[in-house]
Amino acid sequence: MRLYRSFFLLIFFSSCYTSTQIGMTGAVVDLSSSKVGDEKKARPRNVVLMIGDGMGLNQLSAAMYSTTEPLAMERIKTIGIHKSHSADDLITDSAAGATAFASGVKTNNSYLGLDAAGKKHTSLLRQAGSQGIKTGLVVSSTIVHATPAAFFAYNTNRNAYDSIAADLPDARVDFIVGGGKKYFDRRKDDTLNLITRMREQGYFVTDYFEQDYASWAVPDVPRVAFFTADGDPLPAVNGRDYLPKASADALNFLSRRARKGFFLMIEGSQIDWGGHANDAGYVISEMIDFDRAVRAVLDFAERDGNTLVVITGDHDAGGLTINGGKQGDLVCQFSTVKHTGGCIPVYAYGPGAETFSGIYDNTQIYHKLKKLLLN
Ligand SMILES: [Zn+2]
Repeated sequence: MRLYRSFFLLIFFSSCYTSTQIGMTGAVVDLSSSKVGDEKKARPRNVVLMIGDGMGLNQLSAAMYSTTEPLAMERIKTIGIHKSHSADDLITDSAAGATAFASGVKTNNSYLGLDAAGKKHTSLLRQAGSQGIKTGLVVSSTIVHATPAAFFAYNTNRNAYDSIAADLPDARVDFIVGGGKKYFDRRKDDTLNLITRMREQGYFVTDYFEQDYASWAVPDVPRVAFFTADGDPLPAVNGRDYLPKASADALNFLSRRARKGFFLMIEGSQIDWGGHANDAGYVISEMIDFDRAVRAVLDFAERDGNTLVVITGDHDAGGLTINGGKQGDLVCQFSTVKHTGGCIPVYAYGPGAETFSGIYDNTQIYHKLKKLLLN
């Protein structure tokens, strides 16, 4: 077993954490100031599903013990637990895990948008889009990586990136930020230019080569896609910083256009990669980056009062254990370079959050969200 020490620098957040920001604020609980009835309060207008890939309880713990300020995730009071296993294995991969969240079916590892028999299931994102609900995907991996792919693609092979990319234009996602541009304009499978196809469908498409995401002002267009890398985006420690801003941009973009609400999926993709690398510093830095995105989303949800935020992981990665040390200087061990099979916490805030308490299958996240968001 390999032993690591992670000595993590203090992270200074741009906004302070105060008790007045915590929990259900007046916008949600003050009945006298609201014209909407109780029934309407129990159903959100908007849903933000945030997935920390490879984020189990110990990844959260390691991040909490590595900062001086509380994490944004600590504001959340409603917590549940999901059973993460896939159809064919006690230990899920990200494809089966995200398919459970996206489409409500247990499937085999590596399958996207299909049940274990290979039957297609329309994702919550696609269903929302077809009902006129605005949709968005924001990730720190490629946009064709397993987690986002489960929301728009149908494939038995999560690594068939060219084929997965070909399913994106028709899903008509309104706001897209992630890596993987090469799977769209320099494909191995064929000579298609999917970026041209997206432009023909009314997308404004741009990328990291044209400008830094940090200085990008989202244009006033119906649909937008920003490719943050040709392949995988950088780790946060190597300078990637777009996830929090892209999350805030997505909320602004979608809420301004959403006459019927919006569904946004945000993934902190590389927590998992830190786990596979058995690199505690990588895990913690990605957790803190993801938590900055969580902060942007919770700030929006608290102001808005009609947005349900559900935050969870698909599985643990690395079997991370905290075996000592002290605040800011943890002794972390890993038991595997793969995933583990433990249950995973679910954190929920906003209208309908209470339905996420308890212990349930990962597929129930889809069913609960569908009941709350769709007609
Ligand atoms: Zn993984």
